[in-house]
Amino acid sequence: MAQEELLNAGLRGLSDALAEKRVSSVELTRLCLDRIARLNPTLNAFVTTDPEKSLAMARDADARRAAGESGPLLGIPMAHKDIFCTDGWRTTCGSRMLANFVSPYDAHVVTRLKAAGMPMLGKLNMDEFAMGSSNETSHFGPVRNPWDPGRVPGGSSGGSAAAVAARLAPAATGTDTGGSIRQPAALCGLSGLKPTYGVCSRYGMIAFASSLDQAGPMAPSAEDCAWLLTAMAGFDSRDSTSLERPAEDYARDLEKPLAGLRIGLPREFFGPGMDADVRAAVEAALDEFRRQGATTVEVGLPNSGLSVPAYYVIAPAEASSNLSRFDGVRYGHRAAEYADLMDMYCKSRAEGFGAEVKRRILIGTYVLSHGYYDAYYLQAQKIRRLIAADFTEAFRACDVIMGPTSPSVAFPFGAKSADPVQMYLSDIYTIAVNLAGLPGMSIPCGFGAGGMPVGLQLVGDYFSEAKMLNVAHRYQQATDWHRRVPALAA
Ligand code: GLN
Repeated sequence: MAQEELLNAGLRGLSDALAEKRVSSVELTRLCLDRIARLNPTLNAFVTTDPEKSLAMARDADARRAAGESGPLLGIPMAHKDIFCTDGWRTTCGSRMLANFVSPYDAHVVTRLKAAGMPMLGKLNMDEFAMGSSNETSHFGPVRNPWDPGRVPGGSSGGSAAAVAARLAPAATGTDTGGSIRQPAALCGLSGLKPTYGVCSRYGMIAFASSLDQAGPMAPSAEDCAWLLTAMAGFDSRDSTSLERPAEDYARDLEKPLAGLRIGLPREFFGPGMDADVRAAVEAALDEFRRQGATTVEVGLPNSGLSVPAYYVIAPAEASSNLSRFDGVRYGHRAAEYADLMDMYCKSRAEGFGAEVKRRILIGTYVLSHGYYDAYYLQAQKIRRLIAADFTEAFRACDVIMGPTSPSVAFPFGAKSADPVQMYLSDIYTIAVNLAGLPGMSIPCGFGAGGMPVGLQLVGDYFSEAKMLNVAHRYQQATDWHRRVPALAA
């Protein structure tokens, strides 16, 4: 099988090639490792690789297949965002705090993907503790967008997005607390899905804001995402918010025709604020859905304007609590010299955390403090309720909501890093979905300024992942945006 063919086969194509013995898992894994060695110095998408370990996992997958096993993902290599604990592999969360931390166990999602037989290609760069929208806050340096290395890949799962967009890996995991799967997927021209809160276990996923964090797949196509989610999702008693529901095959409805589909267009998402190039691509995508028999209806999400302010109270509040565990005692960075215990805590945290993480810890501690709790945290929780109610109301009139994923295409390095609020606004269309706990997805729908990819966002009602994937897949059967590969990767 030719290289380019393998690189663009999608998970279905790779699965077929493995089943028909046209390629082995070892060959496929080696192909990816070679590409990583060649392109990662430019992209900085991988923080850790260990070719020997990857190839051992591939040999194991080949042995399982030789013994008669035949799972759809068996032998297809993938890579994990460095927020997922991986047994025996360094897990840094993009931070100096964990720069030398080797996890003694696997995250639940990693366990499941290993069980499906997917060799691990390495660990992917990310914004420090998943705080960011541009991958400029990583201790390991910025990740570059394969479509234009002068621009950001989005964040916080920017390493995942860059690696898959440049075809260093057929697929990757990401996590999404306020947009970190969908926004980088949009900026790098990929499909990415954030499931309903509770569908994927958070066990072993380093916590940022526990009531918002969700794991999900990032890959070229919706079909790839459906296959991956089927392997990742499932109840886990070790996460108290994991939902006990019957197992689902998320690919079951992929081929259903879209005639009669009602698409809700929130007027708040189509107002000023969206760049003209993004608007043009999104409108063209809506025309394609209409061509396939869908109808569009305007809906309202009147409280969505409050989502960014509410998020930047709730997420830092939870982060300040979650990150208290990094104290220089149990694990992680410890200052070399200190006078006493308090001094050790202060120096270890001052040295271990970067500026954005410190900003969030300070905000979070402030909004939770006596006297401010009612004014900020409690208010934000009430707004969260209103935002969720807006969506419930909107889904009376439609089956799926659509709009832009990000207000602009990928921006140049440094464009927003000096102004945190400008950076926070990159997630203006994605954050409400996390506050409501709904599933959301981004799929490529064209190119905008500078030849950069544009993402279309789909938001579904609770547990409607299979429907969203169906809608996305039918669009991808009529378009080829998801098959475009950046010149650097060709
Ligand atoms: N960009 C948002 C933030 O900085 C969301 C990050 C995420 O989803 N992990 O918090």
